[in-house]
Parts: sequence; structure tokens; C-alpha cells
Amino acid sequence: MTTRTPLMAGNWKMNLNHLEAIAHVQKLAFALTDKDHEAVEVAVLPPFTDLRSVQTLVDGDKLKIKYGAQDVSAHESGAYTGEISGAMLAKLSCTYVTIGHSERRQYHAEDEAVVNAKVKAAVKHGLTPIVCVGEELAVREAGNQVAHTLAQVDGALEGVPAETVSGLVIAYEPVWAIGTGKVCGEGDAQEVCGAIRGRIAELYDQDTADKVRIQYGGSVKSGNVAKIMEQPDIDGALVGGASLDADEFVKIVRFRD
Ligand code: PEP
Repeated sequence: MTTRTPLMAGNWKMNLNHLEAIAHVQKLAFALTDKDHEAVEVAVLPPFTDLRSVQTLVDGDKLKIKYGAQDVSAHESGAYTGEISGAMLAKLSCTYVTIGHSERRQYHAEDEAVVNAKVKAAVKHGLTPIVCVGEELAVREAGNQVAHTLAQVDGALEGVPAETVSGLVIAYEPVWAIGTGKVCGEGDAQEVCGAIRGRIAELYDQDTADKVRIQYGGSVKSGNVAKIMEQPDIDGALVGGASLDADEFVKIVRFRD
């Protein structure tokens, strides 16, 4: 049986400048022990402007905290004002990049084709995509959350080979639970996360499905993370608001305590 190391990733969204980022990562580094790092992989996803500072701190102090970006361009280089390429993120030794976060889908009209192109661009440069999927409230109320989310998974992974997919992270984030304080019930989250793993097995094979890590995201806090993490197909959390409080994020990392 494959054992999947849980991944707790903090999506800072558009918060913390590079000086605040250094202070925040220092707090995390001071609090997290070797035991924490053995049990759980910890990552931060700061704004682009913080990445160089975080890299310097992580490298200089040999920290075990991983880091990555919140988006990547689908393009290699050239006349794409404001965009950041996979090569640029790889040069900063990023491990992860979130792709298709609901805020990118909503405010930047990112559809499945864009998400798929970004996944391929990230993988090409050795980055691990955290592919975000999940339904809006109306879709859940209509009972179509599984079909909707699986269609997003299909679109994101089109043409991506099994050996790549087994190393990916998929974050199931019901849109209505992001930043709202409304956490999805653990059974409801498991329903969709289990269906995502089942779909990977159908599209690829069971071994690939057993290896892919599936996170839950949406108003995760220290008070609700343990129940979510008890679910068999949930391998970590993508944490927004609560990741901005270092003490709270450390409690989330220690969900077993
Ligand atoms: C997110 O930004 O991916 C997220 C899940 O946010 P929050 O934890 O604040 O709901």
C-alpha cells in the first residue's frame, strides 16, 4: 500500500510583503521541529515578490520548509506583460505552484484549457502543480459537485502522462467554502476526494491513483483539520486565511496532536 506524506500548504494570496514574509517564515521555522517535518511536508505559497526573500532564508538556514508560487504563465517567455514563467520559478528553486485556484478562474477567466497549459508549463520546468478544482455553491446545491469537479480534473490532466500525474497534488476546494468560514463536512469532502482518486485510476491506473496527493481546501483551521485529515482520500490541506497566522498554521501542521 502506498503511504502518502500529508502536505500542508499555506496559500498567502495577496498578503505579506517581502519583509513580512521573512518574519513569517522565521516564525514558522522556529516553531516547527524535526518531528513535525518527518510527519508532514510543510509549504508556503507567497506572492511572487516574496519568493527571492523566502528562497534566501530557506537556503541560508537550511530550512525544511518548501515554497512555491500561486500561479505560472502558460507561456515560455516573451511579450506577456505581467506574467511569470515556469523557468523563472524553477530558477528560484520553487517546489510547488498552484494552478487553477478558484480566484484565478473567477477573476482571470481561467478555463480548463488554460489550466491544462499551465500544468504542462510547470511540469516542463520541474515544478509540482497543486491543481485546484471544486464546485460553486449552485453546483453543490444541484448535487452536481462530483461530476463538475471530475470534469475539471479531466481538463487539467489532458495529455499529461501517468508518471507526471503520480507526483502531482490536486486540491479539492469547494468555492463556497473558500474564505467564507463555511467548511465542507468531512464526509462531503471525502466523497469528492475519493471520486477524484477513482477518476485518476480510470484515466491512468491504480498505482498512479494511489500515489497522487489530494488536499482539501476551504476554511481549514486548527479546530477542524483533524476530522478532515481522518478521511482516507485526503492527504493534506491547502490553507488560505489561517496560514497567515504562524501559530495557527503550526497547529494545523500538528493536526495529529
Ligand atoms: C485558499 O485560498 O485556497 C483557501 C482555501 O482559503 P481559505 O483557507 O481562507 O478558505
